[in-house]
Amino acid sequence: MSLNLYIAYTKYNNKMRDILIIFSLSVLYSCGSWHDSSNSGSSNSSKAKKGKLDITSYAETITSNELKTYLFKFAGDEFEGRDTGEPGQKKAADFLKEAYKKMGIPSPMGGDDYFQEIPESYFRGGIKSSENVLAYIKGTEKPDEIVVISAHYDHVGMDNKGNVFNGADDDGSGTVSMLEIAEAFVEASKNGHGPKRSILFLHVTGEEKGLYGSKYYTENPVFPLENTVTDLNIDMIGRIDKAHEGDDKSNYVYLIGSDRLSTELHNLSEEVNDKYTKLNLDYTYNAKDDPNRFYYRSDHYNFAKHNIPIIFYFNGVHDDYHQISDTPDKIEYDLMTKRAKLVFYTAWEVANRENRLVVDGVKE
Ligand SMILES: [Zn+2]
Repeated sequence: MSLNLYIAYTKYNNKMRDILIIFSLSVLYSCGSWHDSSNSGSSNSSKAKKGKLDITSYAETITSNELKTYLFKFAGDEFEGRDTGEPGQKKAADFLKEAYKKMGIPSPMGGDDYFQEIPESYFRGGIKSSENVLAYIKGTEKPDEIVVISAHYDHVGMDNKGNVFNGADDDGSGTVSMLEIAEAFVEASKNGHGPKRSILFLHVTGEEKGLYGSKYYTENPVFPLENTVTDLNIDMIGRIDKAHEGDDKSNYVYLIGSDRLSTELHNLSEEVNDKYTKLNLDYTYNAKDDPNRFYYRSDHYNFAKHNIPIIFYFNGVHDDYHQISDTPDKIEYDLMTKRAKLVFYTAWEVANRENRLVVDGVKE
């Protein structure tokens, strides 16, 4: 084989070799990228998500690790027990605002204003001015109909020795669960599965002082109350009470008020739990003659007062209730995650079902 030829041949061979290398590389690459997507689940599943709707994959974005990370910050000493009107509560309000901005969830008030200001004059007993924190995902088909998810972010502050009432369960658990639920709805929106009805994330202040924040919101609603379909209120879902201690009993949550104003809401809540979270739904505190009167003691009640169907999610009281010992290290994160997922699935169903919930109950 002459040199020229050889050269030509080798050149040809080299060229062929190069082409072969490029070809095989491109084949390998395309194979590789397929593997990458299967490995990193997300892009693969996002491809899948774009097509087939898989609600559970959105619920799975609600994780105990993220809840824990959020809660150790939110219920840490830095926020000084989040007493209404005090610096610690203001830091907590900024924390929530930044969390929503980071998720790309806007404020219903527009721009950078996530706070519904409550003037000092609205409060009694020398409480300083404060703010509710609001974030909003606009519905894709029925944007005027509003599903509210609420939790109070204030707590009782510090004692006169400077000990902080961290309020990890009360109501740090409800507050950070809302952030994770919001993230799940954002993930769905990104994949073209945004909620048909709008979702309002309402973090209220002044609950410990007398349900002030939710009272102020329902007296000064950002969205007409007549367009508000339901309020799902979370207050203390991070612990296990005495009545449910023991492995066989702890897979529970108390539901209060689900059947008071809308039978459909009650049945829907049962159905999504049967289908997805399989918690023991305990209605002990839902009894009309419940001596604890929990139905009247958290922020959902200000919505129920306006004939808006509500569900109150609660784990019952425990020894650390309103003590400086209500700290993030005591939280049952896996159980809290499951309870937060129940709220997500219920909100999802209310926001996406064809017909608006029918109010068939009697306002008390
Ligand atoms: Zn509370």
